[in-house]
Amino acid sequence: MTDRTLLIFCDFDGTIAKKDIGYNFFYHFSEGKNMELIPHWKNGQLSSRDCLLQEAAMVKATPEEIYNYLDRFEIDPGFPDFANLCRKNDIRPIILSDGFDFYIRYFLKKYRLNHLPLYCNIGRLGNMRIKVEFPYENHTCTRCGNCKGERMAEIRSRMTTPFKTVFIGDGYSDTCAVTEADILYAKKDLEQYCLVNNISYNKYSDFYDVARHLIDEGYLKA
Ligand SMILES: [Mg+2]
Ligand SMILES: [Zn+2]
Repeated sequence: MTDRTLLIFCDFDGTIAKKDIGYNFFYHFSEGKNMELIPHWKNGQLSSRDCLLQEAAMVKATPEEIYNYLDRFEIDPGFPDFANLCRKNDIRPIILSDGFDFYIRYFLKKYRLNHLPLYCNIGRLGNMRIKVEFPYENHTCTRCGNCKGERMAEIRSRMTTPFKTVFIGDGYSDTCAVTEADILYAKKDLEQYCLVNNISYNKYSDFYDVARHLIDEGYLKA
């Protein structure tokens, strides 16, 4: 092991999944009523937990309706290849999300990626309701449901060998992760956040870019 060893963390919505499935899901099933919450969440007045609890309460749908809806989404076509590349390099990318297990696991299973470690919130689908649970405790962050920065710090603290931390993300729910990352890949809202806050990042548009860059930098073997 050398300090070229990587600990790789990926956001799900808008990063592994091409679109933000959680956002679209709640917009669709609340018939747009969730939109009144989003600006308050983005400016920090509303925590993710309160936002997700309120959004989940707006969903009146059966599991069948929910899974049928999910089939319109797809993942970044580069991600299965990226996961393969990581496997060849003895790395398991870790998925960190402030969204819900029921749709993330649905896609991981669909693409045979359900062996990847996943840290996210839990939404149990019942008839016409979603029961929300937050299994991870955040010690300092009051903003996130599942704080990616805190999960990264916990996982880093268990490592016994030198490594570099990689984070790949796209949005506001990734902002706590940026200070924990040695190598950061950002697009969309996360890129804007980096620009405004003078945080250095690597621009990317899909996982093919990330793979190419990590190979070019000598972190991964092709
Ligand atoms: Mg995202
Ligand atoms: Zn946080």
